[in-house]
Amino acid sequence: MSDREFGFATRTVHAGCRPDPDTGARALPIYQTTSYVFEDSEAAAAYFNLQEYGNTYSRIMNPTVAALEERVASLDGGVGAVAFASGLAAQNAALFTLLRPGDHVVVSSALYGGSVTQFKHVLGKMSVELDFVDPDDPGAWRSALKDNTKVLFAETIGNPGGNVLDIETVAEIAHQHECPLMVDNTFATPYLCKPLDWGADIVVYSATKFLGGHGTSLGGLVVDSGDFNWSNGRFPVVADPSPAYHGLSFHETFGFYGFLMKLRAESLRDLGAAISPFNAFLLAQGIETLPLRMRQHVSNAVTVAEFLEQDPRVGAVSYPGLASSRYHELAEKYLPRGCSSVFCFDLPGGRDDGIRFIESLDLFSHLANVGDAKSLVIHPASTTHRQLNDEELAAAGIGPGTIRLSVGIEDADDLVWDIKQGLAAVGGAS
Ligand code: PLP
Repeated sequence: MSDREFGFATRTVHAGCRPDPDTGARALPIYQTTSYVFEDSEAAAAYFNLQEYGNTYSRIMNPTVAALEERVASLDGGVGAVAFASGLAAQNAALFTLLRPGDHVVVSSALYGGSVTQFKHVLGKMSVELDFVDPDDPGAWRSALKDNTKVLFAETIGNPGGNVLDIETVAEIAHQHECPLMVDNTFATPYLCKPLDWGADIVVYSATKFLGGHGTSLGGLVVDSGDFNWSNGRFPVVADPSPAYHGLSFHETFGFYGFLMKLRAESLRDLGAAISPFNAFLLAQGIETLPLRMRQHVSNAVTVAEFLEQDPRVGAVSYPGLASSRYHELAEKYLPRGCSSVFCFDLPGGRDDGIRFIESLDLFSHLANVGDAKSLVIHPASTTHRQLNDEELAAAGIGPGTIRLSVGIEDADDLVWDIKQGLAAVGGAS
């Protein structure tokens, strides 16, 4: 193979998957196996000692899953990736790998509701301290830092508020404090934004959404830049000999791959949230059409958002791809190909109008997911974000009449027709 650097679309189709040398199969084979026969006892010992990289048990690694991991790492420009059973499992494992009781994390207040709950309750149980900050305010990030701060966390495009993160600025703040910036890039996908190129250290995904793209399979990934210096004295949890792996020092032994090795060999092994090979196959297949789908998602979202913005029955439309958005400049910098297709708008009639609107739609499905080829709709205050109190809802940019759309890849005219049906039910035909 030549040393040509292939383009993004080529890598969505080829990265991680060559024709199968044994059978000639061109599609990614589904290795539906729990375990692997060792060549001999010496080879088995070398795998378990991490002296050789080889398959032992599918909770830790699997060839179909490895293809998905290699594909996403390649698209994001990371040194590698580890896949998990869901986005929240990936995020949880990444944080669990880096944090100890008594550590502190600074978290954007504009996050997916399930992530807020995970931070508060799972990390809370681990006695990790948290500060939620306005992601748009660099001063808030800076002043929340403490001696024991170990991670800064935010979403590229906040779910569902549509805040665009100033990744470069927040990464700089993190690095001045010798901390990594972890970014959830679920909405943007590496087609629209590569946070590692802007200084983020770790990227996490719910592959359940746009990466897989068809609403068939849960999955998550952690991608590492390989650039963070875990031996800076602040991360003994990665740098020091590990009691959970017979005294192995992951950073010293594996260098830029140390964090990912620890994530796989300890956190995936011990927390056990492994993705199934079948889900990995479906997600890897979904990624083959990522650029085509994302272009259509973006184009349809712009059409729908512009339509909503000019309708007098609609309040604020929070799509960062609109020229009127307060995030327009940041979007031009970080998301030049578009701002994905999940956004909110407000119905001034509040909760009742929200319910009437949703119940009058035909094409948009009312359900709790985003990033499907099919258009989706939900009322966050009564569903995805119902665990949040009013203050937290407001911090996440959600009101009682807020509707979240995930615009699919259907014909844009049909989507506008459907939205008109919903608006007719709340305010009469325009
Ligand atoms: N991150 C974001 C931005 C999400 O929207 C979601 C789920 O909606 C998750 C993470 C969690 O992903 P999963 O459902 O795959 O655990």
